[in-house]
Amino acid sequence: MEYRPKEIIGHGSFGIIRKVVAKDGTVNVRKEISYKSMNQKERAQLISEFRILKSLVHPNIVRYLHHEHDVTNQEVHLYMEYCGGGDLSGVIRNLRDKDEFYPEYKVWNVLTQLCLALYTCHNNKAPPALAASILAPSSDAIESPHSFVLHRDIKPENIFLDSSNNYVNVKLGDFGLAKMLDLEHPLATTYVGTPFYMSPEILTDQPSTPASDIWSLGCVMYELCSRYPPFQAKTHLQLANKVREAKFKPLPSIYSATLARTIEACLRIDPNQRPTAATLLRLDIIKICRKEIE
Ligand code: ADP
Ligand code: MG
Repeated sequence: MEYRPKEIIGHGSFGIIRKVVAKDGTVNVRKEISYKSMNQKERAQLISEFRILKSLVHPNIVRYLHHEHDVTNQEVHLYMEYCGGGDLSGVIRNLRDKDEFYPEYKVWNVLTQLCLALYTCHNNKAPPALAASILAPSSDAIESPHSFVLHRDIKPENIFLDSSNNYVNVKLGDFGLAKMLDLEHPLATTYVGTPFYMSPEILTDQPSTPASDIWSLGCVMYELCSRYPPFQAKTHLQLANKVREAKFKPLPSIYSATLARTIEACLRIDPNQRPTAATLLRLDIIKICRKEIE
C-alpha cells in the first residue's frame, strides 16, 4: 500500500505518530516504531501489540489496519484509523478552563461506548446484540472465551475522539501496554501504567485482571464529571495511600445518584465487588444509550 506522509501529530513512547493519506484520499495514522535499540523482550512486546490490535475489531476501538516492516531502517510502521477529534483529556481540560460540567447524557454516552470497547477486550469478542441481551440477559456468561485482552493503561489520553456525527464517537486506543492472556494464565504481572488510574491491587504488586481496567474506567468517568481524577497526590507513596483507602470526594451534585453509584461501584477496593463490562452493559440506562448509538 502506498501512502503520502503528512505532518507528525504525536509523539509516542515507541516513536512518532504521523498522518498519512492513502491513494484513495483516506486519512490514516502511522505509528513509526524503531526497534533498533529494543531488546528481545521489547521486540516481543511489540509483536504482541500487533497481534492484540489485529484481534480487536470494534467501532469503539481504534482500528488497526496493517503493518509494514522496514528492515533497512529497522522500523515497523503501524497503520491505524485516524481519530481527528483529539482525546478525552482535551475535553476535560476544556471543561476545567471554561468551568463547565459535561452534561449527564453525554457522560452515559461515553461510558456506554467504553463498556462496549472493554467488553470486546475482556471477552475477545463483540458484545451480544442489544435485542439478544434484552431477551437473555446473562447469555454472555455461558460461553467463555479462550483468551482475552487487558488494556492496562486506560486514561483520558488514550481515549480518542472522532466527532463525525452528532454524538461524540469514543475509541479506546494505545494498546502499548495491553496484554493478551488465556484462561490458563489469566493474571498479568509487571505492570507499568499511569499511577493516577492504577488500581489498589496493582499498587500492591498483585496481578492485574479485567477488574483493574474497570477501576481505571471508573477513574476516567469520575474525572470526566469532576474534571479532576479521584485520587491525586504529590508523591507516588501518598497516591498509593489514597488509592488504598479508595476515598474520594462525591461527584458534583448536578449528577444523578444512579451515575454516582455506577462510578463508585467501579472504584471498589475489592476487585471482585466491581461490575464487569458485561454487567455494566445490562444497566437499563446503558441499554437505552446503546439504542441511540447502534
Ligand atoms: P503512547 O503509547 O506513547 O502514549 P499513543 O498511541 O497514545 O502512544 O500516541 C501518542 C499520541 O499520538 C496520542 O496522544 C495522540 O495525540 C496521537 N495519536 C495516536 N494515535 C492516534 C490516532 N489513531 N488518531 C489520531 N491521533 C493519534
Ligand atoms: Mg498514549
